[in-house]
Amino acid sequence: MIKYFFVLCTLTFLSLAFAWSGHEALTYLIVQDLPIKNRMVKITDYSYEENRIYNQDYLVVKDVSGERAFFDPLGDGKFPPDPSPIDGFMLPVWQILTIYSPEPDNGMDEGLQLDFLQGLIGNSQGVRHMKYNLGFINAFQGDTSFIYFVEMSRQAFKQGDRYWGYRFLARALHYAEDLSQPYHNAPGETGEVLWGIVDGNTRKILKNLHFLYDNYLVYLIYYSDDAARETILGSKPAFLGDERQVINSIMNFARSKFEVVHFELKKAFGDLLKTNVEMKEISQIDNKGELYILKGETLSILSYTASVIKGFLLHFLKEVGEIN
Ligand SMILES: [Zn+2]
Repeated sequence: MIKYFFVLCTLTFLSLAFAWSGHEALTYLIVQDLPIKNRMVKITDYSYEENRIYNQDYLVVKDVSGERAFFDPLGDGKFPPDPSPIDGFMLPVWQILTIYSPEPDNGMDEGLQLDFLQGLIGNSQGVRHMKYNLGFINAFQGDTSFIYFVEMSRQAFKQGDRYWGYRFLARALHYAEDLSQPYHNAPGETGEVLWGIVDGNTRKILKNLHFLYDNYLVYLIYYSDDAARETILGSKPAFLGDERQVINSIMNFARSKFEVVHFELKKAFGDLLKTNVEMKEISQIDNKGELYILKGETLSILSYTASVIKGFLLHFLKEVGEIN
């Protein structure tokens, strides 16, 4: 009963739904060099029976290329490109993967009843985008979300529907990218999490740390130097096996970085964590030279994630016949 109470209290405030921001930029940089046989894809209608429910108010199945529909508002509004379809119905592979990778944060996973945890957290997007494994809490479905959309993509390619093959694959990439964020694997140190049950300030700071680190990626890609872009572009593919092995590796690496990322953020931002940290404050602290360890660790996460996703894409796209 006590354990149940802890789980209930803890989940009630830890269900932060958000992720790395800037999925479109991260994906765009990861998919640049894919040696696809036929780089152009004809847009098709959605025609799938799924084992997954969505919030129908936000689920989008029409093509929205050229609209920057799901792009992060913290981005610079120019990068990455999102041109209109060629002749009104043809899109390059890179563009489908890029523009649809942020889509799952647009509400399709929100406001649903998913499982018994749902009653405790009241936030279904968090259930699908995170995976906590804290010893006393083992919860959420971020890893199975990735695997689900890889399988949907596989089915689409099998029936010759390349467009939805890539759209489902873009969603799969979203969940893999989410789980590369340490705060999607743990909300805080165990002591902080337990203290947060009774202390609202601790809860708030943990929440702000999560958002801050989401936005730090946007800062690195859009508003810092070229290090993040070059790290992602330059990462060599790593081949780790099937989709379960791929997502486990990404989660394990993110967890291994939790402690140092958490420590460095708290050290550098201190009292600013009592409120939402703004992009200009990240920039000011960076300019004072206080983020160099955080930056190094984050580049290492980006390098690892980009390598594993590149390797996965090469392996999977060969399996479905898109690559020789
Ligand atoms: Zn997400």
